[in-house]
Amino acid sequence: MSKAIIGTALITGASGGIGAIYADRLARRGYDLILVARTAERLEENAARIRAQTGRTVDVIVADLADPAAVSGVSERLERDPAISLLVNNAGITLNGGMFDNAPEALERLIAVNVTAPTLLAAAAGRAFADRKTGTIINIGSVVTFIPETFEGVYSSSKAYILNLSLSLAAKLKDADVRVQAVLPGATRTEIWTRSGHDVDSLLPGKVMDAEDLVDAALVGLDKGELVTIPPLEDDGLWDTLDAARLALGPHLSQRDVAARYRPTASAA
Ligand code: NAP
Repeated sequence: MSKAIIGTALITGASGGIGAIYADRLARRGYDLILVARTAERLEENAARIRAQTGRTVDVIVADLADPAAVSGVSERLERDPAISLLVNNAGITLNGGMFDNAPEALERLIAVNVTAPTLLAAAAGRAFADRKTGTIINIGSVVTFIPETFEGVYSSSKAYILNLSLSLAAKLKDADVRVQAVLPGATRTEIWTRSGHDVDSLLPGKVMDAEDLVDAALVGLDKGELVTIPPLEDDGLWDTLDAARLALGPHLSQRDVAARYRPTASAA
């Protein structure tokens, strides 16, 4: 590989699944890497393979992103390492069972990994990239944002948060030349399903994407300048319609007077 180095990408959840594919693809695009996850051996294996195949510099940070001290350590690296030009907020977990089957600690852990950690890392990266007047933040959400009725509620809500955060960050960082992309995968064949005891191909036969295809598509979306990339969605007009409907609400959402239908009737007064 002879491409010029174009900065360093910090990728969370890079020991397997979607994050490991991002690591491979970004190294091939010319990024040096910082790979973050809990499992040191898998991170080191990925790092060694990528170094051998691409010649890039690959660092590893072993961190449990449910641990506030570990998140601070990664945030600090984002803020103080001027070579970092890309954050991929990818690490995420699901529940084993539903919200009523899990102890409060499991719900808190999901929120810590899927909401708190990406928020704090995006805040650190956003600040640093805005100062450097360049950078990109990729946040991995999910299509379950749109179908909470059919999926476990804490996970789908955590992913809805990621979409909202990304839309807001993109608006705030636009003038600083910092790009934001929310990637919303559909069902993708990774260990996230087996970790929670599911065989995704039985659950959704014929509808499961390979992680390689997902990441390659997400990078096409990035290259096109998309803010929201939904790789399985053939008709992108469906997203445009939803987004336009949401934006059309804007001018109507704060008024001095309550809407007519909520005015108490004379008989109720
Ligand atoms: P995966 O194969 O289970 O990989 C998850 C990655 O996150 C692993 O590298 C894991 O490494 C890391 N991780 C988990 N808990 C962590 C923690 N507490 N601290 C640090 N790292 C942690 O899952 P995936 O499917 O690739 O998921 C990647 C992202 O895609 C997630 O945000 C997920 O919600 C999203 N997504 C996936 C699908 C799908 O169908 N696969 C669909 C929509 C969205 P360690 O275990 O080594 O820490």
